[in-house]
Amino acid sequence: MKWIFRKYEFHFKSFLVFIPILLSQILVGGVVYYTGGTKVVYPHFMYLPIIISAFIFEYRVGLLTALIGGFILGPFMPLDVEQGIMQQMNNWIIRTGFFCAVGALTGIIKRFMVDFYERREDFLTKDPFTGLNNRNTFLQSLEGDLEIRDSLFIAVLELRNQDEIITSFGFDFYKKVIQAVVGKIQGVVGADNQLYSLRFNLIGFYSCSNVSSWVNDIINNFKKPINIDKIPILCDVLIGIINFPEDGSSALELVQGSILAINEGKKNLNQITKFSKKGKKEFTKANLINQIDHALESGEIDFFYQPIINAKDVKPVAIEALIRWQHPKYGMILPNDYIPALEETFLMHEVTCWAIERNVQRISELKEFDLNIEITVNISPVDLQQNDFSMKIEKLVRCLKSDPLSNLTFEITERGLLSNSKQTLQNIISIKEMGVGISIDDFGTGNTTIATFSKIKIDSLKIDLDFVKDHLENDSNKKIIRSLVIMAKSLGIKTIAEGVETKEIYESIRSLGVDFLQGYYIAKPMSFTDIKNWLLKQQ
Ligand code: C2E
Ligand code: CA
Ligand code: CA
Repeated sequence: MKWIFRKYEFHFKSFLVFIPILLSQILVGGVVYYTGGTKVVYPHFMYLPIIISAFIFEYRVGLLTALIGGFILGPFMPLDVEQGIMQQMNNWIIRTGFFCAVGALTGIIKRFMVDFYERREDFLTKDPFTGLNNRNTFLQSLEGDLEIRDSLFIAVLELRNQDEIITSFGFDFYKKVIQAVVGKIQGVVGADNQLYSLRFNLIGFYSCSNVSSWVNDIINNFKKPINIDKIPILCDVLIGIINFPEDGSSALELVQGSILAINEGKKNLNQITKFSKKGKKEFTKANLINQIDHALESGEIDFFYQPIINAKDVKPVAIEALIRWQHPKYGMILPNDYIPALEETFLMHEVTCWAIERNVQRISELKEFDLNIEITVNISPVDLQQNDFSMKIEKLVRCLKSDPLSNLTFEITERGLLSNSKQTLQNIISIKEMGVGISIDDFGTGNTTIATFSKIKIDSLKIDLDFVKDHLENDSNKKIIRSLVIMAKSLGIKTIAEGVETKEIYESIRSLGVDFLQGYYIAKPMSFTDIKNWLLKQQ
């Protein structure tokens, strides 16, 4: 069917098609003559070759065929052969006019159909912004090549600062930037190699030979700003590379892998990143977000608990709830693998509420064993920015009809506090009023000002594990810990050192006057049953 919509291009083969059309016109002429002349209906047969010709060759050749037809049935064709009556001139001229009208009209209709079809094809296969073939075309083309090639090298480039360019200069300007980016890449890979637009700011290409040298040249090309409308724009580009067949077998898998490689590059500040299986693992885990709901319901997600002890009498004072996902396929998944991704979705709030509910129940369960111990729950910074977060907590706790709030503490990272938004502070104040303790986690990694502590009354500061772990070798860290302890004491705030991994750290940290200790040296995180037994043993 596609040939119908093909645009006519003149070449030698056209003659070969035109000859039968011409012959059929002569045949019509013969039929008209031998059936007695134009007085009979047979001249109408001439419309057929004219329409066919116009449809194939469009209106110019359509007109030519019409004129030839008009001539064949024209001045030399009798009206009545038997009686030898010739046609009047206006008769054959008007007929020729009709032929021309049909030829031209058919040709024009054909051109409209072709244009419509091409625009539809463009819409489906081209990116309107860059004019390049789009993602679907890339996948189709790559899939086709995967079937016939032994190896392929795929690269995807991301223009990372597209948002800044759009917000500063607008969409029309960005269009020029991305087109300039395309031009630069095309300049390196050559006009013979197709580029594809996979997304607004993602350009992909592939080749049978290694693309590494191209990729290096492309990156070098973007070291200096490019001038668009006399404005210098520095294009912040990253490239992910992936190879077939080692890193993936389907087009989709390879494209996803190259995007993952770019994301790896973002994390490690590398402009060129080759896909690694480690990235793939993370990718599959990012995919896990979709399974969170099921995991919460089925019990795949639960908590491990790590004790926090008093530095003076080494008695446990609290346990920190650390989320753990025992996945049927991937095994134990640690929070850092999915919590950051989760924080970008509304699901984080659901997980936090679920965590609070579950741990409030566990405080009660521990009480049944005469274990009057605090549980600290990690709260995400995005939770605190929700305007109804404290109300939700209040409702939740009221529903549980127990009063374990004095044994519940929320750990909020210093980064979470950093947002310094009114909403965050208001939520913390309301939570504090409910009787829930507030501990600032990873203290020393953010920019909290002392003024914050006059706005909110916090209970404890957790000195970040990085300071603690190497304070024996790093004298500055030791001094920081010492001054944090003095500052906290003067404000009536307790200090907790996390990351107490060894006996040496343990002893040194105690001597620095830190109130509470947490770390592998004391105990590693363990299941609820294990922590219960551990706590019972300590009594
Ligand atoms: P965090 O709150 O700073 O938790 C401490 C992390 O350090 C835990 O890792 C813990 O297993 C680990 N750790 C404990 N003692 C030591 C030690 O002596 N040495 C070393 N090197 N590490 C130690 P984990 O469980 O992988 O948790 C990582 C982070 O995930 C946590 O950091 C916390 O920010 C987040 N997280 C954990 N559970 C939750 C949760 O329920 N909700 C939210 N929003 N975040 C959570
Ligand atoms: Ca914590
Ligand atoms: Ca921490």
